[in-house]
Amino acid sequence: MTIFNFSAGPAVLPKEVLQQAAAEMLDWHGSGMSVMEMSHRGKEFMSILEAAQRDFRELLGVPSNYKVLFLQGGAIAENAIIPMNLAHLKGQSATVDYINTGSWSVKSIKEAKRYCDVHVAASSEAQHFAQIPARDTWQLSSNPSYVHICSNETIDGVEFQYTPDIAAETNNAPLIADVSSHILSREMDVSKYGVIYGGAQKNIGPAGLTIVVVREDLLEGGHAMTSCPSAFNWKIVADNDSMYNTPPTYAIYIAGLVFQWLKKQGGVAAMEQRNIAKAALLYDYLDSTDFYQTKIAADSRSRMNVPFFLHDHALNDAFLEGAKERGLLQLKGHKSVGGMRASIYNAMPLEGVQALVTYLKEFEKREQR
Ligand code: PLP
Repeated sequence: MTIFNFSAGPAVLPKEVLQQAAAEMLDWHGSGMSVMEMSHRGKEFMSILEAAQRDFRELLGVPSNYKVLFLQGGAIAENAIIPMNLAHLKGQSATVDYINTGSWSVKSIKEAKRYCDVHVAASSEAQHFAQIPARDTWQLSSNPSYVHICSNETIDGVEFQYTPDIAAETNNAPLIADVSSHILSREMDVSKYGVIYGGAQKNIGPAGLTIVVVREDLLEGGHAMTSCPSAFNWKIVADNDSMYNTPPTYAIYIAGLVFQWLKKQGGVAAMEQRNIAKAALLYDYLDSTDFYQTKIAADSRSRMNVPFFLHDHALNDAFLEGAKERGLLQLKGHKSVGGMRASIYNAMPLEGVQALVTYLKEFEKREQR
């Protein structure tokens, strides 16, 4: 039986990548060492790191005036690290703006409040996060140090389908985006952002690696808080080429293999087309029947995380049981939302979504008999 794993993360990796990693596990390229055993400053690992950085930059089209940092800590740590590095960009009394679009925004806001004055410029909380607040309703500050968005809400299933333009209203505040759960799934104009960041464990690789892409001018000026740990001071990390402390070496190695896999698939543009097709297949079916429901407005639906509900919640357990018997795993929704959630990241093939839709139809037919 073919297994399709719909986990929201840590997520499925391409089979080819896992096979290659397994083949190289004990002896990487004749070095006599596993990547886990290598010095992070030795020439073998340095070549792995450089290739991963180069391929990532190429895949995402990162402009030359941006640094790509490989860190530890995950996106939740970045929720504190961002204000520690940038809240004082425009002076100690400046405020920072956040757009509240779901559970991950809520966490980011809560954490930032520990370090600075946070202004929530727009929120869809009252609408149960079913739609990204329309850009023309945002009440941005006139001179915030930055504006933060979560561009794909993994739990609530909303995704920005555009890059918000905020510069004119905010005296050129940098836009910061938590891209954890859709990075490399769609093309992005990085030059429109000051910072993008995310944990690797959805579209990139194993948990443990955090990627921060930061515009170089934001590192200058010495505005990081003195309380910011050196290992999380982006300027120090950048000056040390992500080697200030020991980087998550094995996670970087696997990420590098995923980047090579992505290039073989045709890069991010090709991946985006596949992701559009996969999401359309699933949403179109969900929209075609009352047996299942999606609650997310059409203009805000995530291509990566698709929460949906059975019209009769009493059938939830039977649905999950039947799915498991068919090899369709980890479809249970997040506890704060309930129902089901299908996460269909880059490594999920179209066949996986086809198998899910076939099962949705079968289950519906069986229950309606
Ligand atoms: N932000 C988003 C959008 C996420 O999906 C997640 C994890 O699922 C996080 C932040 C938290 O990441 P981490 O657990 O790596 O700190």
